[in-house]
Amino acid sequence: MSNSSFQFEQIGVIHSCYRQKFGIPRQPGIVTAAESELELLPPYNQENLVRGLEGFSHLWVQFIFHETMEEGWRPTIRPPRLGGRQRMGVFATRSTHRPNPVGLSVVKLKEIQSGNGKLILKLAEADLLDGTPVIDIKPYLPYADALPEAEGGFAPLPAVMAEVEFTEEAIAKCQAYEQRTGQALIDLIRQVLGQDPRPAYLRDTTGRRHGSALWDVNVVWESRGDHFLVTDLEPYS
Ligand code: SAH
Repeated sequence: MSNSSFQFEQIGVIHSCYRQKFGIPRQPGIVTAAESELELLPPYNQENLVRGLEGFSHLWVQFIFHETMEEGWRPTIRPPRLGGRQRMGVFATRSTHRPNPVGLSVVKLKEIQSGNGKLILKLAEADLLDGTPVIDIKPYLPYADALPEAEGGFAPLPAVMAEVEFTEEAIAKCQAYEQRTGQALIDLIRQVLGQDPRPAYLRDTTGRRHGSALWDVNVVWESRGDHFLVTDLEPYS
């Protein structure tokens, strides 16, 4: 018997604070200050389709790893969790490079907004790149989906968060940004950098300049041994 193939239609698009892959947490729920929106696209932008969803605090979002799908997939990968030293099978990991580039994230549903022909789900804590195509949404069912006795293989606990410090110049720029936009940028930066976004092969790079794009700013930072130091904010477009 030969394999079947299927075609799916995009039902929505993500608008998020993550403008670049570098810096996005490796799972949802880690960066609680991350805000995003899921905009339903026609013909799926009708209130009928989300009737009853407002009672759920969390959703499963299925999406396409559109930014990396052209790169194809690999049978084994080195999970960052194992310091890049060991290879695991693609189906034992949450790698973006999979035979079908479909991602799955649990996200917090804050609010459903509709008006002007738009239907928007306000989300928090997502790990999704700006522009990510969404192919399905389902309610998260605590009685069936939350399994406290489950075993976490080689990733039993969340990764340890590192300290993040700011130069005086950087903190002043962050505060000005917060006042101007109302966005909680400092918390967002602390959480994003705290989970060490560097791939394993860049882990030994003390002093090297890194940039992570959040909203419309490029956060410039470097590793200082046991902590990260934010040195500047630059415009990002
Ligand atoms: N929770 C998802 C994603 C895990 S991989 C799942 O388990 O399927 C997490 C990585 O996906 C993030 O570090 C981010 O860099 C990447 N990512 C997020 N949106 C993406 C997109 N649209 N295209 C490619 N990679 C994306």
